[in-house]
Amino acid sequence: MPLAAAAASAREILTGLHDIMAGRGSAQAKLNKVVDLIADKMQSEVCSIYLLRDNKLELFATHGLRKEAVHVTRLALGEGLTGTIAAEGRILNLAEAAEHPAFIYRPETGEERFHSFAGVPIVRLETPIGVLAVQHAESRRYEDIEIEALQTVAMVLSEMIAGARLVDGARRSRLRSAGPLRLTGLKLVTGMAKGQAVFHQPRVIVEHTMADDTEAERERVYAAFRKMREQIEAITREAEFGTAGEHQEILETYKMFAYDEGWGRRINEAIDSGLTAEAAIVRVQQRMRARMREIDDSLLQERMHDLDDLSNRLLRIVSGRMETAARSGLTRDTVLIARNLGPAELLEYDRRRLKGVLLEEGSLTAHMTIVARAMGVPVVGRLTDIRHSVEEGESVLVDGDNGSVIIRPNRVLAGGFEHRLALRQKRRAEFDAARSLPAVTPDGLAISVMVNAGLPEDAANLELTGADGIGLFRTEFQFLVSATLPGRERQQRLYAKVLAAAGDRPVVFRTVDIGGDKALPYLTDHKDEAENPAMGWRALRLSLERSTLMKAQARALIEAAAGKVLRVMFPMVSEPWEYEEARALVEEQVAWARSAHRKLPSRVEFGAMLEVPALAETLDQLLPRIDFLSIGTNDLTQFLFAADRADPRLAERYDWLSPAILRFLRRVAGQARAAGVPVRVCGEMGGRPLEAMALIGIGIEQFSITPAAVGSIKAMVRSLDAAACRTRMQQWLERPPPDMRRTLGEWARRHRVAIG
Ligand code: PEP
Ligand code: MG
Repeated sequence: MPLAAAAASAREILTGLHDIMAGRGSAQAKLNKVVDLIADKMQSEVCSIYLLRDNKLELFATHGLRKEAVHVTRLALGEGLTGTIAAEGRILNLAEAAEHPAFIYRPETGEERFHSFAGVPIVRLETPIGVLAVQHAESRRYEDIEIEALQTVAMVLSEMIAGARLVDGARRSRLRSAGPLRLTGLKLVTGMAKGQAVFHQPRVIVEHTMADDTEAERERVYAAFRKMREQIEAITREAEFGTAGEHQEILETYKMFAYDEGWGRRINEAIDSGLTAEAAIVRVQQRMRARMREIDDSLLQERMHDLDDLSNRLLRIVSGRMETAARSGLTRDTVLIARNLGPAELLEYDRRRLKGVLLEEGSLTAHMTIVARAMGVPVVGRLTDIRHSVEEGESVLVDGDNGSVIIRPNRVLAGGFEHRLALRQKRRAEFDAARSLPAVTPDGLAISVMVNAGLPEDAANLELTGADGIGLFRTEFQFLVSATLPGRERQQRLYAKVLAAAGDRPVVFRTVDIGGDKALPYLTDHKDEAENPAMGWRALRLSLERSTLMKAQARALIEAAAGKVLRVMFPMVSEPWEYEEARALVEEQVAWARSAHRKLPSRVEFGAMLEVPALAETLDQLLPRIDFLSIGTNDLTQFLFAADRADPRLAERYDWLSPAILRFLRRVAGQARAAGVPVRVCGEMGGRPLEAMALIGIGIEQFSITPAAVGSIKAMVRSLDAAACRTRMQQWLERPPPDMRRTLGEWARRHRVAIG
């Protein structure tokens, strides 16, 4: 068929469809009319509709095949051309149907007379629920525009079919994976959880496919495109400053697609054919997905995935559904599904309902992971395609200990999960018992176990964790959960509350560490945008420039700690002068408080975080000036290995137990000890029993860890012969074994060290 004629017939089909849908009659009668209409307009000998019923594709309506075959011919998923289209959700466009390997011949239909075949899936909620196919006696390949016309019809049909309940429960009719599905990803936060899947960004269900006013629909799409571009620009600016979640490379692709004229044009053409803005976006998206399945190049596939993401964003904008699931509130035990999340986004969720998080990306030391760990919410990352493997509301079991997930569990799988859960609870109970015991090794070495905190409730829970104090209070968390900059009084109230809850136990307040993957929209300064936010204008660098912010914080800390010891430490000190400036700034505020006759802290102690390797080379200058040193292994290792801590592709590449890290830390610990300065490890590394064991082996005796790990770390300490461990570590670091983790693990098991 010539192109112009095909375009005209596509429009005529839609007009005809409109009349059929608006008219009276049963769903079956309408389907019968639809196949006649398409056959007529596409001048095809055959047009058929197959729908999914009882997990089989049943011929529901046909023009051209034998009528006796209707409701008789049934195909399994994957069976024949039609079954292949439905099972794989792809389009087939064949000049010679019989030459396709999946072709099968059903005598009752009489289809042997036809050569060419084109079929598209009828999709509902991203799941095929049927197939629409045409056949011609002559051998020909169908034009793109004809395939698009079929897709348009399929979209409109899906709305009617779901409405008329002609197929298996529209929500449950997953063809590709109707049964349970087990996926394995990257363990990010341990723990087990069960709940119902909730998408961080809810899916939009297109309710109306046919437009009443094409021009109005076009305007809606234009407006949505404008808004989407603005959003992408804004996110890119934030990302350059260091927002969480979205990756620079992805954003660049987003930007490219957001301005892609071809995409806009295809949506416009779909609107021309009579679809609503939403339906047009989805139709183009479906086409894209079909292409995506045929591409073999993984890089290109990833790009298509990005475009798919962007399509979803456009759809949410056009339908006014921009809010995340946190905004609409959780109503049940939830396992949250997202591509990636920022720490602030995570903190928006109701902690009582949020039981687990599944991400397509994610990495071990990204701040979102740290926040989730602090919240006690298990997280499994790197679950490619999780958003397309589960439906909103489906039951999900999360095993963060093994990095596995079960979607739609059956009774056997759920039973196995419950069994492991019970074992875990038993083990936890043992650890919990260890929590209140002293952290002393059998050979008499006392280990200080403090916790990392930052959320207001962390202070109240301190008693329960059995920790010796708070070794790292991340003050920026309060800034992250707030829509505006928290004022001095608000900060002071929080600090006072934390100190009161800690009682006699020490609390180390770290001044705000903003930037990197902890961006604050209200603090973003575009003129200072950096190429690499983790190494950019963040932490102390930013605080020293924004001295008003730092002064306000210092004053809040001083007043909150009136009559008590105030411990302040500065993040990301790179050179000693930065520490000196920051300290001078706090001391100025102490002097001011004194002159204003305010009640002062009984003593102020100052510490620096060692997170930038360069600082290790100037420790001789720094150590005499500080009261304590805290090693932030999360940042330190990303800088030592030049491996972005938020990059999921590097999440598993380098090991904390590598000789490079352990030798580095041993040297720092030795220098600090020689100078009589206490040194503590406050990165995530210290909360893992095997890593903590290695750290004790190189001379670390103070830890600040995630609260949930206190029991397991104490249990490890209480079973460790520290002297023997030190001797062995000395030897291993002189001559590293090929696999340090394995060697350490074997040693621990042989010596009955409780490493979990
Ligand atoms: C670290 O970098 O190890 C650290 C403890 O600080 P944060 O994780 O907050 O950057
Ligand atoms: Mg850090």
